[in-house]
Parts: sequence; structure tokens; C-alpha cells
Amino acid sequence: MNKTALIADRRYMRHSAGRVHPERPDRVAAMIEMAQRLNRDALKTYAPREASLDEIGLCHRPDYIKAVERTAGLDHFDFDPDTHSSPDTWNTATLAVGGVLTAVEAVLDGEAQNAFAIVRPPGHHALPERAMGFCFFNNVAIAATWLVRMRGMRRVLILDWDVHHGNGTQEIFYESPQVLYISTHQYPFYPGTGAIDEIGAAGGTGFTVNAPMPATFGDGEYLRIFDDLLIPVARQFNPEFILLSAGFDCHYRDPLGAMRVTEDGFVAMTRRMKRLAAECCGGRLVAALEGGYDLKALADSGRAVLQELGRDGDEQIAPAVDGERVIPIVQRAQYFLHRYWNFG
Ligand SMILES: [Zn+2]
Repeated sequence: MNKTALIADRRYMRHSAGRVHPERPDRVAAMIEMAQRLNRDALKTYAPREASLDEIGLCHRPDYIKAVERTAGLDHFDFDPDTHSSPDTWNTATLAVGGVLTAVEAVLDGEAQNAFAIVRPPGHHALPERAMGFCFFNNVAIAATWLVRMRGMRRVLILDWDVHHGNGTQEIFYESPQVLYISTHQYPFYPGTGAIDEIGAAGGTGFTVNAPMPATFGDGEYLRIFDDLLIPVARQFNPEFILLSAGFDCHYRDPLGAMRVTEDGFVAMTRRMKRLAAECCGGRLVAALEGGYDLKALADSGRAVLQELGRDGDEQIAPAVDGERVIPIVQRAQYFLHRYWNFG
């Protein structure tokens, strides 16, 4: 078995959001060129399959899916002030959903221990009935729903470390106890959601965990919140499969975000997710690209994550460092955890 399946395809460069849009085709080129220079021993590349309409329909309404399909071949269509289609957006977005499903299938079928899907357009802002924030279809949310509906899983974890809150993913699972959505994000910031008291509703109460963080937080604060809050919650949930919304716009070089995560931080967070996956679900972990708008930061961070995913053993948790500023957030989050999770 290969350690890591890599889903990569230059067809992901066909969607254009506009001539000077940060979510641009070069992002995929940078990731693919980086991956081609990696040691190939632990890595096997797969071409993505397309998602079916039924699969996209696991999270999106039929009239919205049709609306995206109708843009095929059209010069452009503006879905919101940031989210524009091009003639190949429909095909590319369908392939992005399929790419994450290809990654999930490779791991479920035992072809790989874990996987990384280099897809675009990203997904975590996409809502059931509309495109938003560069996103058309919610690639990761569809994969989670697919695992629940098609493979009968009862507990799927989505961890989202993109610098933006994944409002679409949160909304889709807000009342579901089967998908635990955990997000670290800059706050307050686009899209405005992700406050600490957004914890889910009805049967899903407690199965949404938001870790909003002020601008300038970096590796120390992220690792502290992983160790003190997010990993313990995820371990209690005991997921059967782990999906990672891997946005690299929390990197210190990113032009959109104002956080200070470094390549070392991404390695450390990935190591924690691998360890969690090893403990809970036989190592089954699939990461999918979300944001990340500095090409060098994207390639360097992607390399760091891919190398860590492909590394054997040594999955111990390193001690957290310099996390003092994050403590008030942890204390506030723990109030909710005590109340809704009986987490001690
Ligand atoms: Zn983002």
C-alpha cells in the first residue's frame, strides 16, 4: 500500500474566476510542480474522476446545480461579488468534487493510507443553494455526506484550518451529530461567521466547534489550541474518517489572511491529524486544498504537508510552544465543551 495518494490534474486550471482574481489557475500549477519534485516513494498520483449529479446533490439543491451547469460554455457569470464562472467552471467544479471523492475512495479501498487532493475551485464557503467566496460546490462536505450516506459511517470529522471560516460546511452539518465540524479561522474576518458560540443546533448541538482567533496568531497559538481543545474534542468524537479542509491562507505570506502560520506549523498540525487518525480510524485521513493565494507559500506549505503525510511512523505529538495569547479563547470554548460535551 502506498502511504499517500495524490490527486492532481492540470484540468483544475481550466476554471477562471477573472483576469486578476487571487483564486487563479497558477495555484494548481504551483502545487503540481512542487509535487513533481517530491520523493515519489511514498506518493502515488491519481487522476480525479468526475462527480455525478446525484453526488453533488448530496449537499446542493437541484436548481442551484442546474444554475451552475447552465454556465457551461458561457463567457462569464457573476454568482457573487467574488465568485465568477468561466466557460469551464462547471466541468472543473464537478471534477473538484470528484477529486476529493477519488481521494476518499483510494483510502477506503486500501490503496493508500491517506490522501491529498489538489483541487480547485475550493469548496468550504459553498452553501446548499448558492456559490460564495470563490466556491461553487462544497467538495469536502459532499465527501463527508457521501461517507455517511453511501458508506454508512456514523462519525466523520472535518477539520478546517483555512484562514476563513467554512460557513458552507458549518451550515450543511449544523444540525447533524454525524459530522463534527471543527474550524480554526481568523476572526472577525470574511465571511463573518464562526463565532465561538456557534456550536450546532438541535441534534447537532455540540458537533460544531469554532476556534475563532485574532489576526497575527501563528504556530504556537495554533498548536496550543490543537492540543488543548481541538484534538481532545476530536478524540472524544472518535471519528471513523477524517477530512481536512487544507487552506494555506493562514500562512504568514498570504495576501488575504493576517495569520502567521509557517511550514513548520503545517507539519505539526498535520502530524497531530495523522496521530488522531491512527488512534481513531486506522489512519484514514484525506486532505483537500481550499484557499492559499501566495504561490510560494502554497507550494512550500503543500510540500510540508505532503511530506508529513507520506512519512512513516514518528507520529508523536510535539510539545506546544508559546501559546499564552490563546488561553482566553480556550477557556471560553471549554465553557461550551463542558456544557454540551461534558468534556472535562
Ligand atoms: Zn480561505
